[in-house]
Amino acid sequence: ITQLYVPLSWFGTYYRVIQKNFIDMEKLLELFDEPIEVKDPENPIPLRVPKGEIEFDNVSFSYDRQPTLKSVSFKVPAGSTVAIVGPSGSGKSTILRLLFRFYDVQSGSIKIDGQDIRSVLQNDLRRAIGVVPQDTVLFNDSIRYNIAYGRAGYSGGVTMGEVIDAADRAHIHDRIMSFTDQYETRVGERGQRLSGGEKQRVAIARTLLKDPRIVCLDEATSALDTTTERNIQTSLREMTNDRTTLIIAHRLSTIVHADVILILKNGEIVERGTHSELISNTDSVYYDMWMKQLADSQNKASFDLSMDPEAMDG
Ligand code: ATP
Repeated sequence: ITQLYVPLSWFGTYYRVIQKNFIDMEKLLELFDEPIEVKDPENPIPLRVPKGEIEFDNVSFSYDRQPTLKSVSFKVPAGSTVAIVGPSGSGKSTILRLLFRFYDVQSGSIKIDGQDIRSVLQNDLRRAIGVVPQDTVLFNDSIRYNIAYGRAGYSGGVTMGEVIDAADRAHIHDRIMSFTDQYETRVGERGQRLSGGEKQRVAIARTLLKDPRIVCLDEATSALDTTTERNIQTSLREMTNDRTTLIIAHRLSTIVHADVILILKNGEIVERGTHSELISNTDSVYYDMWMKQLADSQNKASFDLSMDPEAMDG
């Protein structure tokens, strides 16, 4: 029975790994599936990002007939953090896609340190911005490759020392060293399968190695367990500390320290301010969202407690 059972369960794991890779590949294609209408300018100016200030000035955009963003204006001053929250479909991801110039705005403009992103090479633009997505794309290759990828496409020649340094700062070096093949461990395929938290750390290491002035975070909707989540938050804070940061947030608790929070609804910014400013207005959309999340987390906490055998013993 054991002999039969082991290969079957092994197959199950193996199959899931393959399936997951397909999903990652799809996500990657989606991310790099550039519409052909976005072209490099004939006489591009070199993008200079000494500070990393982002400005959306009256940006309107639609994929088809329906307007997706309506006169969206905001600034992310150099080194600060702006968080975008809002219901599903409100246009949060679209803001990131436009910043990456996957599409061109239909009116208004997007500027980085005063330069319209339409006037620079798309390669230059993407080199200036790091992304930690909801679900990190891992290539079916070594961990070393997956971290170096952050810069490999641009300047190449990433040294092992740089990879280790980035992994160390993302607090995943020790974990990698615990694998038999260490940095040569293949992810995805037969080799080690990384957990959600570990994958995010690889993405953080990748971004640290790329060392961009601007970082975009798309917070994962499915929460990691509380301890992992807290540790990751620490690494994310270290990464975003002195970088201009634009974050799409699903849990308000992770953005209470943002310099500005934008509330997006049906493609419009309906409220903006710091957490304490927004929360002090009990009529605000933000206040409602905050109260709802608070209630949800309290329900969850009491649920967790009731499931905890020790708590039940006590
Ligand atoms: P979520 O929190 O669910 O990720 P979001 O706020 O990020 O949502 P967007 O992904 O920016 O929302 O989508 C905004 C609107 O644009 C939605 O109505 C969506 O259906 C639409 N949309 C997004 N991508 C496309 C596309 N490629 N073609 C047509 N419509 C799209």
